Amino acid sequence: MKLKITCIPGDGIGPEIVTEAKKVLDKVAKVYGHEIEYKDILMGGCSIDVHGVPLTDEAIADAKAADAVLMGSIGGNTSTSPWYKLEPGLRPEAGLLKLRKALNLFANLRPAYLYPELKSACPLKESTSDKGFDMLIMRELTGGLYFGDRFTKEVDGELVATDTLVYKESEIKRIAIRAFDVARKRRKSVISVDKANVLDSSRLWRKVVEEVAKDYPDVTLEHMLVDNCAMQLVKDPSQFDVVLTENMFGDILSDEASMITGSIGMLSSASLNDTSFGLYEPSHGSAPDIAGQNKANPIATILSAAMMLRYSFNLDKEADAIEGAVREVLGDNYRTVDIMPKENADNLKLCTCTEMGDIITEYIK
Ligand code: NAD
Repeated sequence: MKLKITCIPGDGIGPEIVTEAKKVLDKVAKVYGHEIEYKDILMGGCSIDVHGVPLTDEAIADAKAADAVLMGSIGGNTSTSPWYKLEPGLRPEAGLLKLRKALNLFANLRPAYLYPELKSACPLKESTSDKGFDMLIMRELTGGLYFGDRFTKEVDGELVATDTLVYKESEIKRIAIRAFDVARKRRKSVISVDKANVLDSSRLWRKVVEEVAKDYPDVTLEHMLVDNCAMQLVKDPSQFDVVLTENMFGDILSDEASMITGSIGMLSSASLNDTSFGLYEPSHGSAPDIAGQNKANPIATILSAAMMLRYSFNLDKEADAIEGAVREVLGDNYRTVDIMPKENADNLKLCTCTEMGDIITEYIK
């Protein structure tokens, strides 16, 4: 198969981690007989330095022309970088928002998986972390409270701020379909999270999700109120497979889910539209504090590349090979500095970013 991938190395550690992910993809292509054509584009601070804007129209066209986009991370030190003295629309993050909009990326997928080898980093009680967890948060990304009308005006002598939460049936339907499709590739369970005891938008959410579920009799559906979900995530995260939710609830719950894995350098993500096209990136930022030092953990980006193979190219075996290699490498005690425990590290082997990429590549058979 021929895979056309546009890469956005970006800023900070972005170029280092994307280089390692490409190494792994190249090995997968060699082992499984695929051909990959890459094109790199500028986005974020590096684009501001060259073009004066965080994303050019040419770069958007290059992203659209590919089957999928693999991104590192963008942005710099928000207190010291000159990029943050620019007006908001010209700052690095504006490039990412523009790209998400141009590509209509409405579905955000964030897996949260507790590797048994990294259990000590999990902040939950040992009796909870011992059970492990493996969930995926499916968050609606282009609707809801963050995109509704907002205004502040004076009423009766005081300021009143208003934000509106709007969802159309069609917006709920398309994200629900995504969630059920993904559940079919996993443990066939969807928990849909809302606040249907209070919000109209949640009641419509629940109704549409139930209608979509009728087309997936092999997938179980449960509903959970968002406040209960926030509690259940720390009480028993092992109960979750696919968590389907709207934009703001997803924003908060996906951060909570990543926190309980205890290791930001391990968390991948995907943003999809209604075709097979997707943007794949680690959940972390550009880590300017360690950029250029060969210390970054490339695993989140490598796992994002695995998600790309699974969701944009339907290459499940190849994605399994990458995920399996990561598990084996951790099992054989290789660690980058961010996942190296302070105590009981005698039998662990400290790796640079490059070494971690090389070892994972070697483990792909
Ligand atoms: P960050 O995620 O970049 O870093 C937080 C901490 O985690 C730092 O100590 C960093 O060294 C560490 N860290 C992050 N990723 C790591 C990795 N792969 N390996 C080892 N350690 C890692 O968050 P921040 O410092 O708040 O933000 C830095 C910049 O990144 C900002 O400009 C921010 O806007 C941007 N950002 C970009 C994205 C994106 O590109 N999608 C996402 C979040 C933040």
